[in-house]
Amino acid sequence: MGHTLNAYAPFVGHSAIDELRLLADRLHGWAIRCVNATRVGGGVAEILTRMVPLCHELGVDMRWDVLEGSEPFFRVTKTMHNALHGQQEALTPDARELFLRVSEENLARLQLEGDLFFIHDPQPIAFVQSRRKLGGKWIWRCHIDVSRPQQGAWDFMRPFILQYDAAIFSAPAFAQVLPVRQLLIAPSIDPVSEKNRELAPGEVAEVLRELQIPTDWPIITQVSRFDYLKDPIGVIDAFRLVRRSFKCRLILAGGPASDDPEGSEVLRRVQEEAKRTPEIHVLMLPPNSDRAINALQRASSVVIQKSLREGFGLTVAEALWKSRPVVASAVGGIPLQVKHGYSGLLVRSVEGAARAIAECLQQPEYAAKLGAQGREHVRQNFLLTRHLREYLLAFLTAGSPKDVLEFHDQPPHQPRACTTAL
Ligand code: UDP
Repeated sequence: MGHTLNAYAPFVGHSAIDELRLLADRLHGWAIRCVNATRVGGGVAEILTRMVPLCHELGVDMRWDVLEGSEPFFRVTKTMHNALHGQQEALTPDARELFLRVSEENLARLQLEGDLFFIHDPQPIAFVQSRRKLGGKWIWRCHIDVSRPQQGAWDFMRPFILQYDAAIFSAPAFAQVLPVRQLLIAPSIDPVSEKNRELAPGEVAEVLRELQIPTDWPIITQVSRFDYLKDPIGVIDAFRLVRRSFKCRLILAGGPASDDPEGSEVLRRVQEEAKRTPEIHVLMLPPNSDRAINALQRASSVVIQKSLREGFGLTVAEALWKSRPVVASAVGGIPLQVKHGYSGLLVRSVEGAARAIAECLQQPEYAAKLGAQGREHVRQNFLLTRHLREYLLAFLTAGSPKDVLEFHDQPPHQPRACTTAL
């Protein structure tokens, strides 16, 4: 994987690395077990793929297990995901029963052992029901904006959350009032990963040639799973408005995520919509297309992220890190990254997105300034080293693994900010 801690020093300074070493030493002897729902596809897998090896390099015993389930199970968890984002979707009694059954099956299969269980998102949330048997401390890491959930879905989730020692949310605005300790930790990107490292112009050109994307006109790109909440059809509509005044191309690049069964249906719909416009390039990328995504983002005159709902939106940070002007919806964690008129442009509609894209195409100097400021904003707030530091602190404050188990007899805690960015 080629991680070396010192490779981060040019971006964050040696003292940040020394601090990580210091914190990691305090976790010596702890076995930390992460569980999520997919090894590839989506932001959670993206972060864990980078964070777990970095922890190993620091001497922290962190392991990462992935929950397995059938397509019906992942349909249930996608419904749950959408409902927690506020969509009006109902969880039937059968769906709830399937959810709990798959959770039990995975617990039996995985035979987890550890001192601290770090459970990501709703899919494996019910694992906490085994905490009396497994012991250890339990932290739920929620990557979703659950501030306005559909009530039924929230009522189903809440009893599980209450069994954790702490819950981590990405931003104050995502959290809920809960009688468990809450921490606020923004996600991050890895500046030395294949997805975000510097690429020479020749490498960028080579990738575009491989993907058969002409470089005759400015390129506008959205990189996202094919998901209705990423609004790929809205992106096409905005592009068609821009095309009335500018010669340009649109790339919609996405890939599969094993926990998202809606992907192929959304891809079909997008392909159907795009087929009458040859300037629209719909790319279904295989897993681990990090170099291709890196090059596509770098080749773009504007990167768009027109989500209807969003968690943090790592693709925004990735584009900003590459000094790209970003046009993005003011939803989820995007406004933390895009400060309107400073590190990109926030939009709220198809017409607004079209206007903002046109503004960037028309004023390249302004667009370049937004991009440069965006990179600095990401450097200061959303790099992996800051994220890991806050996780290590969260693990330490969860208490020693040798502590006696305490269920929630402490008074309610308000969300506690852990990051300067928020
Ligand atoms: N991604 C990828 N291949 C794709 C589409 C997305 O590797 O075809 C990556 C993208 O670069 C980003 C992550 O998946 O790192 C998506 O994270 P984000 O927070 O933007 O959205 P999520 O999918 O988690 O909702």
